[in-house]
Amino acid sequence: MSLGLQRGVCFADKHLHHQALRRIEQADREEAMPLEDGLGMRQLAKALFAVVVARPAKAVTEGRMRSSGPRTPSLQTGRWTTVEAIAMVDIAHWTCPTCKVIVTTPFCARCGEEPIAPRTLTLRGLVEKVIHALTSIDARAARSARTLLRHPGELTLAWTSGVRKPYVAPFQLFLIANVLFFALQSATGENVFSSSLDSHLHHQDWSELAQSFLSQRLVATNMTVEQYEPLFNSAVVMNAKSLILLMTLPFALLLPLAFLREHRPFMTHVVFSLHLYTFLLLLFCAALLLAKLSALLGLGGLDAPMVDNVLSMAILMMCALYIYLAIGPVYGAMGARRTVKAIVLALAAAAIVLGYRFALFFITLFAS
Ligand SMILES: [Zn+2]
Repeated sequence: MSLGLQRGVCFADKHLHHQALRRIEQADREEAMPLEDGLGMRQLAKALFAVVVARPAKAVTEGRMRSSGPRTPSLQTGRWTTVEAIAMVDIAHWTCPTCKVIVTTPFCARCGEEPIAPRTLTLRGLVEKVIHALTSIDARAARSARTLLRHPGELTLAWTSGVRKPYVAPFQLFLIANVLFFALQSATGENVFSSSLDSHLHHQDWSELAQSFLSQRLVATNMTVEQYEPLFNSAVVMNAKSLILLMTLPFALLLPLAFLREHRPFMTHVVFSLHLYTFLLLLFCAALLLAKLSALLGLGGLDAPMVDNVLSMAILMMCALYIYLAIGPVYGAMGARRTVKAIVLALAAAAIVLGYRFALFFITLFAS
């Protein structure tokens, strides 16, 4: 709570303080809205009431301004004096320090500035700000994730129609899922995108191609496979993290083709794509946990073809279902076309994931 505190005045000198309080009381008695003797709860409640019913307390404010001397925030003590406590409830008018205009709302309508409170500048104020920032991000991220998972498409629709304050921005949400995914990946020791050199050379559809490119690269760098492998494996993990956003782009370009007639603005496609890949990253998180579980049960992790195939199929079907549910509200898709488009787009999304893994091999090979 930091409304109107810029009116707070520091009274380092106790005598000055009492003098000022007497003058305030005097001024209050002279003004149209007389306040009770003393500075107890009754008076606070009264002042609060005046604010709540939005009755302009201009006269009171001006009286206080005249009597309270220079407007210096209470930096020395960092405590609220009684004067400040009253000032806090007096948000009727304050001067925006940036625009130098008188403002009657909690935030400056022109620039968004809010009145600075003496408390904001103290350690306690800082701690409160940090806690608020962390918990509000948490609350918004949790709300966004809930909407994303429980009502596919609603988050995209909300964002593109301007309902933004309750949610985390699509790109931010994607990054949060990204951090979560890579943290879980290193915790479980499983790999989804950043396949090792060994996997590229022996377990992928492009293994033959990979082998021939690798031998060219080894000749060029004058290294043996044993020397090169650790370099590749550490670089591919880094690249997978920094280039993951690349996956969302081709899908965003595909959407306007799939929904030519719907004439959605391009931003809708980008947001839809970001939300879909956020959902996929969360699915991959679940897959990592299941893979770890199956490894613990002795069935093998993602390296085992059976586990890999089952999880891949499950992810593909969940992805198709998500797209089917989401393109309804976002693009107004209906009937058989909706089903066909959902299947085609899910296959495209899967192809993009595979393409991304393949692209990572080449990018890492020629950049490390
Ligand atoms: Zn302003």
